Amino acid sequence: MSEGFIPVAAPVLDGNERAYVMDCLESSWISSTGTYIERFERAFAEFCGVRHAVSCSNGTTALHLALLAMGVGPGDEVLVPSLTFVATANAVSYCGASPVFVDSEPDTWTMDPASLEERITDRTKGIIAVHLFGHPADMRTICAIARRRGLFVLEDAAQAHGAECEGRRAGSIGDVATFSFYGNKIITTGEGGMVVTSDDDMARRMRQLRSQGMDPERRYWFPVIGYNYRMTNVAAALGLAQLERVEWQLERRRQIVSWYRQELGDAVGLSFQAEKAWARHVWWMFSVVLDGDEPTVEEVMAHLRGRGIETRPFVHPLHRLPPYLRDRDCVELPVAEHLGRRGINLPTWAGLTREHVRYVCDSLQECYATSRVS
Ligand SMILES: *Cc1c(COP(=O)(O)O)cnc(C)c1O
Repeated sequence: MSEGFIPVAAPVLDGNERAYVMDCLESSWISSTGTYIERFERAFAEFCGVRHAVSCSNGTTALHLALLAMGVGPGDEVLVPSLTFVATANAVSYCGASPVFVDSEPDTWTMDPASLEERITDRTKGIIAVHLFGHPADMRTICAIARRRGLFVLEDAAQAHGAECEGRRAGSIGDVATFSFYGNKIITTGEGGMVVTSDDDMARRMRQLRSQGMDPERRYWFPVIGYNYRMTNVAAALGLAQLERVEWQLERRRQIVSWYRQELGDAVGLSFQAEKAWARHVWWMFSVVLDGDEPTVEEVMAHLRGRGIETRPFVHPLHRLPPYLRDRDCVELPVAEHLGRRGINLPTWAGLTREHVRYVCDSLQECYATSRVS
């Protein structure tokens, strides 16, 4: 971290990353064959408590592979929260299917099961539950609805490595789950992704689709059209080293968030994401939602930027983006809209110190002091 600048996220690469990457270079196994891929996949499957982990090039291709393996195709609808990163919906579009958007819960900000149920039609094929900012979606209720209506459940756990619902790991609860290892995620491979499942047949199909559709028993025979969505051995080497330190990452994040809550505990005008008693929140991002109209998100972000602090606004709710406006029968999604307009992600990554957090919180509270006097 450069002097006087606090980024919103940054990787910490102080474990075996260098040694494992050097091993790839020295052995010349730098492409998508090599021992680190198998080791990373096996370790990640164990981390999630599932039978299979299929590595791939990023979290978006992971979603695409999972949806294809679920048989999603043209004419199908898949329920997606409106408040998520755009990749969740884009992957549905890649299959020729339509994302149908669902509102958020006011406390956890994850997919609202009541809104979900309202949006099911006879074309609905499945649900993508997103564990937003590291808080698991209400999987007990979502899975019960899915079972009753014959839908699949895909967990988009891109932001939630290690999160838990009632003691069960994110990734092991739905039919299939995806993760991202982008540079700002809880653990990173630079660019990378993973699909996990305990279904043997699905794992086999995803491995085939990941590698141009090649028959695993017959070299250069391609019975289906696949993709090149493979991860490199170098990325897997980074991933294995990162995974060795994941519990430390999660502990640090919990500590940092407890500092934030101590500093901001009685701040007026700010709301925070809940952590339900049944949930282990892994705090990919600690966020605040501004309750009032003043100061605005733009004013707060500009003030913090002036203090050398990087922040991020929440995403625009996806049902408001040009490619998805066609979802015109869209009921109002007021919670997603409110959060999308007023949410800010504060710096959240393992290298932050108590002093950083205090400085961020003091700078944030200055916005309120100024707006009150003016
Ligand atoms: C980051 C992210 C993705 C996409 O992952 P990439 O590795 O960037 O392709 C998908 N869904 C969610 C919720 C994400 O946060």
